[in-house]
Amino acid sequence: MNDAKQNERKEEQPLALTPSVLKEIVSGVVETALREAKKPHITDEEKKRIEEEQLMRKDAAASVREEIDQKKNFQEELCGHQREDGTNACVYVNGSNYILCQRCQFIIRPEEDAKLFNRIFPLCFKRGR
Ligand SMILES: [Zn+2]
Repeated sequence: MNDAKQNERKEEQPLALTPSVLKEIVSGVVETALREAKKPHITDEEKKRIEEEQLMRKDAAASVREEIDQKKNFQEELCGHQREDGTNACVYVNGSNYILCQRCQFIIRPEEDAKLFNRIFPLCFKRGR
């Protein structure tokens, strides 16, 4: 009889917050905290995707560079930056520090193609042939 009463009381007391309920709440909070903490981290899959994107961007940059080089070579080959009579078709644009081919509108900058710039630069100040 006594035992039964004590058992009853034991069960009665923690009704509001039983250890299992408390555990559930705590684990819920911990889980949420963990989930939030994990957010800024990158998963392996995301890491792979970012690396692939960076590689693609690198490839794209390389192909753009190649395209510019090809265009440059093509224009020089085609135009030679000379007039029909073989004289220099380029002018040095003072202040902006580049050479402009008046025939093909190609711009030669010393920082982009020093060799070509140095070859044509003195021609820009030559009169006649
Ligand atoms: Zn030209």
